[in-house]
Order: sequence, then structure tokens, then C-alpha cells
Amino acid sequence: MNRRKFVKASAFSSMALSIQKIGACNFDSAVVKDNPIVISTWDAGLRANKAAWQILKDGGRALDAVEKGVMVTEAEQNCCVGLSANPDRDGFVTLDASIMDEYFNCGSVAFLERIKHPISVARRVMEKTPHVMLVGSGAQEFAVAEGFPLEPQELSEQAQKNYDNWLKKSKYTPPAINVESQINPKNHGPFAPYKLDNGEWNHDTIGMVAMDAKGNLSGSCTTSGAGFKMRGRVGDSPIIGAGLFVDNEIGACTATGQGEDVIRIAGSHTVVELMRQGLSPEEACQKAIERIMKIKGKDAEKIQVAFLALNKKGEVGTYAIHKGFSYAIKRNDLEALIPSKYKME
Ligand code: ASP
Repeated sequence: MNRRKFVKASAFSSMALSIQKIGACNFDSAVVKDNPIVISTWDAGLRANKAAWQILKDGGRALDAVEKGVMVTEAEQNCCVGLSANPDRDGFVTLDASIMDEYFNCGSVAFLERIKHPISVARRVMEKTPHVMLVGSGAQEFAVAEGFPLEPQELSEQAQKNYDNWLKKSKYTPPAINVESQINPKNHGPFAPYKLDNGEWNHDTIGMVAMDAKGNLSGSCTTSGAGFKMRGRVGDSPIIGAGLFVDNEIGACTATGQGEDVIRIAGSHTVVELMRQGLSPEEACQKAIERIMKIKGKDAEKIQVAFLALNKKGEVGTYAIHKGFSYAIKRNDLEALIPSKYKME
């Protein structure tokens, strides 16, 4: 997958052309009432949006759309989502996911192993338990009790290759810490570097937010987290308010990138609160990115974080620390992959 391609895989080349004309990052997305919309992270979002659109176009609920949409990515060969993704440093794939609807109902799973669709387990947690979050073996037991098959504990061919390659160096680089801050690097433990030797960022998550024809919002987020992470590490994606937040009065936001730094500022909730204060989705995402960059100081160079937000008017905005993040959008009049604005190359 090449996230650096700007506009690609649009179903209609004329659409891609019109995106280029209006300017990739800056199109005005004032939405006609009753026009559903779905947006999601990275290029895998193009395929996920298609599945979500099948539900949205027929007047279906945003919640169903965001679940069905990201299930597509969970089932694909992927570096960082679903069971085919890269493992933790002990060789096990562990998955995190969260989902939230228009009524502040939310559910999540973390450190879940051997289950193909963590997003659907997260939805069951939301709908069938009095809790918001289940983790590890408890989440797995719940999934099995709910009828989700326990998949074999094996790596995909690609993940095995990536892991074997990574094991040659087993390079653990401490995460970028602002040494001038009060944050103690010792608390953070060893990590895989977030930028790989080939210059690619070592992450990818599918986060999706949608508004249905009734104007209701929902969101979902699912990931295997950072590749070659410490065993037991959980990122922002299953944390409501960090990797995902939905307030049906205001808007919805999801995040991708270095989860630790998204959690630190309660990222998605922060973006929604900034929209509540009147900022556009893009301005809100930018402010949250700037907050992270201020905390990290010069070490912001070493991490990637991106936010993707949708407000109640159907306006879309994104912002990333680095160049390279793009998001997929699907509306009646538009299907495209659009590069995000960013702070640095
Ligand atoms: N945010 C995810 C995590 O930290 C990873 C990613 O988006 O790449 O687990």
C-alpha cells in the first residue's frame, strides 16, 4: 500500500479530476441535508467506505455502516489491522477496536487475540454488556461465548516475513520523549521505532466516521496497534475519547498514528470539544496536532499522528504532523482519497 499517492482509485476519473481542481485538502464540504457521508483513514478506507456506503445509500444507520465498513479492512491482508497484521515483539497479533453511536453508547476491546472481527466484538460489548471495555482473555472468552470463531494462532505469510526481518535487529527505540518536559522516559519502556528503515511509518489503523441520511453520527476504529510493540501494549484506538469520539450534537473524530501521544491529550474528544467551541473540523484537528507537537517539542519530528473529523453539518477536516496521511471520502457526489494537511514533511 502506498499512502503517498495523492488521489487514487476513485471510481470515476472525472471525480478525481474535480478533486484536483478544487484543491486536494481544501474542498468545501457543505452538505446538503439528507446526504450521507462516510470518511475513513488511509487508502484502505476506499474499500471500507464502499461497504459502508451500501448501508448509507439505502437510508441505513451510521452505526451499521461504520461496523460493516471497517470489517472489510479487518479481513484484508494488512500491515496493521486484523489478524493478518504484524505481531507484537513476542510474535502474537493482538487487536484493539472501538465503536460509538449517536446516543453515547460505546464499546471496545483491547489486547484481543485470534478473533477476526474485533469491531463486531466491540459492538457486542456495547450492546450486550453493562460495560464499555473488555480486554485480553476476558474479551476473547466473551467473543467465543457470543459465537465468534477462535481463529488459528498463526501469522500471515507477509507478517511472518516482516517479523523475521524485524527480529534480525529487534531494534527497540524509546519513543520520542520531550526531555524538557516532566515526562520520565523510563516510564515509557522500549518500543519498536515508529519510522521503519525504509522511511514508512510503522502504523496504520482504520478509523471511520459517518453521518447517515437522518443526520446521525457514528464512528469505529480498529487496529493491531504498533507493529512489534511490547506484549500487552494497548494504543489509543480502543480508548473512547482518544482514538474515537462521537457527540451527535457536534461531530465525530477518529485518530491514527502514535497512540501514546493521542491518549496523552484525549485526542478525539479534544477535537470534538474544539468543534463545539466553533472551530471547523480542520481547525480543530490542527489545534489538537499542535498540542501534541508542543508537548513533544523537537521529538515531534519522530512521530506521526493524524486526526480525521466530521461535524454535524457534514464538513470534513483532517490534520497530521507529517506529510503522507490521506483519508478516503464517499458521498453521493464524491469518492476519493484525499491528502491531509500537515505540519512537516
Ligand atoms: N493508533 C494506533 C495505535 O497506536 C496505531 C496506528 O494508528 O497506526 O495503536
